[in-house]
Amino acid sequence: MLEVKDLAVAFGSIAPLSGVTFSLAKGETLGIVGESGSGKSLTAMSIMGLLPMSDGRVTSGSIVFDGQELTTLNESDYCKLRGGRIGLITQNPMTSLDPLKKIGTQVDAVAILHLGMAKKKARANTVDILHTLRIPEPALICERYPHQMSGGMKQRIVIAMALAADPDLLIADEPTTALDVTVQAQIIRLLDDLVKQRGLALLLITHDMSVVAQTCDRVVVMYAGRAIEQGPVLDIFDNPQHPYTQALVGCIPRDLKDGEKLTSIPGTVPTVLNYPEGCKFHPRCTRAQNICTTVQPELDRNGDSAVACHFAGASI
Ligand code: SF4
Repeated sequence: MLEVKDLAVAFGSIAPLSGVTFSLAKGETLGIVGESGSGKSLTAMSIMGLLPMSDGRVTSGSIVFDGQELTTLNESDYCKLRGGRIGLITQNPMTSLDPLKKIGTQVDAVAILHLGMAKKKARANTVDILHTLRIPEPALICERYPHQMSGGMKQRIVIAMALAADPDLLIADEPTTALDVTVQAQIIRLLDDLVKQRGLALLLITHDMSVVAQTCDRVVVMYAGRAIEQGPVLDIFDNPQHPYTQALVGCIPRDLKDGEKLTSIPGTVPTVLNYPEGCKFHPRCTRAQNICTTVQPELDRNGDSAVACHFAGASI
């Protein structure tokens, strides 16, 4: 359904993203994880053709969606895909919903625009989707405004808008970050159910490893604008090969005793203006050797897994 190969993005002379490669099949959930600044959202925006600044552009690589190359697509064809065959769920529902329009009008508009539905049919479609998303009294909810709803309900409405044109691919960018923990769990369960019921492909961007463990089939780990490891979720959690992934997995709290401190990774992700030479993780890596400071390791594929490290597999 989606194949991203050696994707690189630049803003003028600054290159925040390079060497991003992964694929996603129908009915599969792929998680993209990493700390803030690792390039997760930029990857999603590149797929959606929504690079955030006027001089942002894909400089090399390809993004193929259902056989169609997206990096050369013109804006009017992209407009047909976005919100149509590719749905987007953003992290803050308040920035996705129009505060001046009723819920029903906003969800109806997606099916009217992308599927050419008449108003009455679009409203029936909206009520049906709200029902699927377990929103009580969907016909009544259609008459409400966003400010009359809780954060969790607003996020369900954003999901309804993403589903209204019956997409094949759903991109969810930190869909639960703005929500409290109980509602987070409900939304994650809901997304998981949607993938199973509708056979969607879901690209789930998150910094939360527990969300990945609950929902994803496969995982891509990103660091400083590069995909540094990927594989089936069980392999990534049980047998991570890259020192950064090993450290990330080591930070997951497990059976903490009273007074025991949470583990963290020393240092911070470098900003795009000070990416180091060689392996971008080397200033924080306990395994770094001389070669790591000068030579960028490439993704080395082995079956369904891949890792970019000169010393992959060594434990820290
Ligand atoms: Fe660490 Fe070197 Fe591997 Fe980078 S290439 S993760 S610095 S061991």
